[in-house]
Amino acid sequence: MAAAVIAALLAVGYGVSLVHGALLRHGEAEAYRHGQQRLAFLVAALQTATDRHDRLPKLLARERDFIAALRTPDDPQAIARANETLSFVQTNADVSDVFLIEADGDTIAASNFGQQDTFVGHNFSFRPYFSDSIAGRTGRFYAVGAVTGVPGYFIAEPIVEDGRRLGVVVIKVSLAPLAQLWTQSGDAIAAVDRSGVVMLAADRSWLYRTLAPLRPEEIERLRSARQYGDDDLRPLVRNSPIVLDEGAARLDLALDGAPGPYLVQALSLDRLDWRLVLFTPLGEARRFADTWTSFAVVLLAAAGFAAALVATRFRHRADRRRAAERLARLKTELEAEIDRAGQALAERNRKLREAERILTETRDEALQAGKLAALGQMAAGISHELNQPLTALSTLSDNAAALLDRGDAPAARRNLALIGATAIRMGRIVGQFKAFARKNAGPLEPVALGASVGAAILMVENRAREIGVEIAHDGRDDVAVLADRVRLEQILVNLLRNALDASEDADLKRVDLCVRQPEGPSGPVCVDVRDHGRGIAEDAVGRLFEPFFTTKPEGRGLGLGLALSQDIAKSFGGEIVAGNADGGGAVFTLVLARR
Ligand code: ADP
Repeated sequence: MAAAVIAALLAVGYGVSLVHGALLRHGEAEAYRHGQQRLAFLVAALQTATDRHDRLPKLLARERDFIAALRTPDDPQAIARANETLSFVQTNADVSDVFLIEADGDTIAASNFGQQDTFVGHNFSFRPYFSDSIAGRTGRFYAVGAVTGVPGYFIAEPIVEDGRRLGVVVIKVSLAPLAQLWTQSGDAIAAVDRSGVVMLAADRSWLYRTLAPLRPEEIERLRSARQYGDDDLRPLVRNSPIVLDEGAARLDLALDGAPGPYLVQALSLDRLDWRLVLFTPLGEARRFADTWTSFAVVLLAAAGFAAALVATRFRHRADRRRAAERLARLKTELEAEIDRAGQALAERNRKLREAERILTETRDEALQAGKLAALGQMAAGISHELNQPLTALSTLSDNAAALLDRGDAPAARRNLALIGATAIRMGRIVGQFKAFARKNAGPLEPVALGASVGAAILMVENRAREIGVEIAHDGRDDVAVLADRVRLEQILVNLLRNALDASEDADLKRVDLCVRQPEGPSGPVCVDVRDHGRGIAEDAVGRLFEPFFTTKPEGRGLGLGLALSQDIAKSFGGEIVAGNADGGGAVFTLVLARR
């Protein structure tokens, strides 16, 4: 995200700099175009000012008065006439001065004759316009007046008579009015000669300064022609020569203390070896570029802001729509999920109820089946138990009959008493059988634990005898517990039968039954049934009390014994805890509440 913002800012910055550059180039191009136009106009004006009198010296060279004066320079009248004519020309041709020079350079007559700073008497042989014209050519020269100190454009023409060059007539044209116009126009304009010296300028302080430092010989040449008087010809801009390639350059100058880039353009005059140089500060172009760039940036920012606003609005709307859609989808999915879960729950409930029903039925059936199995065993036990007293009864009754026959009444009565006792014992055995077969559980009541333990042992005694296992009964069992007698005996029978099964192939064929009260006489009563078999297998530990869990071979175990026993124990408010005993074998503890 941050990277994207930086990239966007860089892109915008780059774009802005491009725009700024383009505007700047546009501004500068405009300045250039305007400058070229201006220069062309100014050059034309200067050209007109200098050309205006170009032909005049040629006409004056024919003037008889001048020829006469040159021929007879010592003739005061001839000189006076020449002076008059010169003065007349000066006044009517609108030039600053007109004068006449002899072939040796001395001025013999001048329009300013008689004035304090008259040229008369001065020798101008050092002036190039003189040397040029005395050599036969038209002399053109711009210089500061050697006498007056007033600059002017000199045009000189030789005066020839019979092929002999008598002298030279010179006019001096002032360009000061033009410079004044420049000053008024506000243009930073200067006319420079071929050496790069400013001859004429809108700003007078630029006069006789140079575009670039001059070579010493150049300075010497100018000095000898006394072209710019005694001026020291310093460069216009210190330390930065103004070099113009192709007539224009963009330069960093500090002109008149105003620093900044300047566009400097130059245009040459046709005939003269002069150039007009125009300085255009580019601050305006820069300000133009700055202003429009700022405007563009503000516009761009506003557009960007508006676009972002619109995009955000659209995105928000799209987000909201998507969120609403997602919510609706979620809701539908959730409803479907709830529906499915509800159905699954209903199905599970149905299955649970079905399982419960099956379990209840199975349990009742198993209870019955278990009871029937026990009944089978018990029937064997009972027949065994009853066989012995029955034999005894038959023997006792035979004996009683014989004793009565013998008249031994007391012995016969003892025998009869024994018969009675035997009958009672038999009745008890039968009674237990009846009670066990009863299906419904009776109410909880105090049950003498000892009697139940005895009855249970009795019920498994036969099986114990078969497999040669001793049942060792230990501990105090004269306590009463809260239970249903028949079902308590059922638990004990189950535990004993399991212990007997486990003892079948054990080294020590003994089952220990022990009654304890670990928390004292009023605490719960524990009945430990311990064998010396293999103990409870590790993977069976957690599943012992599950219905139908059995490790016994088919036909031998139903896996209901412990489940039912636990069920019953819990209905007494007690429980069965299973574990392995120290020294081998399993121990099942039936915990019962004290009555
Ligand atoms: P069943 O005796 O029909 O298998 P039980 O519920 O009585 O059903 O016993 C479940 C299982 O508990 C037995 O199959 C046996 O694996 C284990 N078990 C019960 N008593 C003992 C014991 N005294 N020693 C070792 N394992 C026992």
